[in-house]
Amino acid sequence: MAEFAPYAVSSENSRGRRLQEAPPTGRTEFQRDRDRIIHSTAFRRLEYKTQVFVNHEGDLFRTRLTHSLEVAQIARSVARTLKLNEDLTEAIALAHDLGHTPFGHAGQDALHECMKPCGGFEHNLQSLRVVDVLEQRYAAFDGLNLTFETREGILKHCSLKNARALGDIGERFVKRQRPSLEAQIANLADEIAYNNHDVDDGLRSGLLNMSQLESVRIFARHRHAVVRQYPQIDARRLVHETIRRMISTLVLDLTRHTSEGIGARAPLTLNDVRAAPALLGFSAPIANDHQELKRFLRTHLYEHYEVVRMMDKARRIMRELFEAFTGDLRLLPVQYRELASADPMRTVADYIAGMTDRYAMREHRRLFAV
Ligand code: MG
Repeated sequence: MAEFAPYAVSSENSRGRRLQEAPPTGRTEFQRDRDRIIHSTAFRRLEYKTQVFVNHEGDLFRTRLTHSLEVAQIARSVARTLKLNEDLTEAIALAHDLGHTPFGHAGQDALHECMKPCGGFEHNLQSLRVVDVLEQRYAAFDGLNLTFETREGILKHCSLKNARALGDIGERFVKRQRPSLEAQIANLADEIAYNNHDVDDGLRSGLLNMSQLESVRIFARHRHAVVRQYPQIDARRLVHETIRRMISTLVLDLTRHTSEGIGARAPLTLNDVRAAPALLGFSAPIANDHQELKRFLRTHLYEHYEVVRMMDKARRIMRELFEAFTGDLRLLPVQYRELASADPMRTVADYIAGMTDRYAMREHRRLFAV
């Protein structure tokens, strides 16, 4: 087995599973977590859930499934270089979006509005709920019974109020501590993956163009370098080569800058990592570049009128589904109707949150089309 840094998470220093199980044979605790995540229903649904482009808009856009795989790939490279637990970071990366509603952030915002009178809806909490409660496939327990460290990594953000209600898993928010470096890596790998693939998908969709991207320094720098080196390169390859180099730059900078920070701080244990300020991060110039890229995407892609129209439609679909089901629980499929007798609003939220984009649109048509 690879040599871990002393502050890495390991099967030995893990806080274990909620329900104790015999240690796995032939794989680590975190490989077992990863395997359970991959075999879950929620994981398969990621194939038909999206963040920016709705699933039916084209076959080449990222889905949450391909996004999660890209996050896992980036996270694993970083973890390996930093001698951290690659299996844990992979498990967190693969699970990080399991609780997402259909239609990305617009869907989650709409569901949160609907659920405000009874605790709201938050996708990180929902991801935890998926792996703790909603997956029903094991004889001995509900959920996937994952390790503390994977669950903690999944819960990326959390309000103080929710954190207090969650017990041990919310502790770090109350104590203002950091999660493991493996969780911090999955979190930043998520940002690196979506910022870069949104440029790619934005260009492919025609909502963004190359001349707009000239204002993004990290993009322009790499694009010019590619053209200098390959003056005859065609447009598609130029985009790919530029994005590939941007990802490499971000990953290299992240590992280098983090190694230096760790060197200066010299954490000896996992607890030192938790108590230290965030040890994972980019150097100042690259952090600026990355922020600039994010700002560009917000203005030019996420607020593009075509995206805004789609998101508006998505919010309407979510609201109307919620109102229809909570208005008459008999509209719910049988298995949900039974659960709804205990907690109708939360059951409806779970049902809607679990839907894929196309399933939500189909349900909406079934309920409302005349
Ligand atoms: Mg993500």
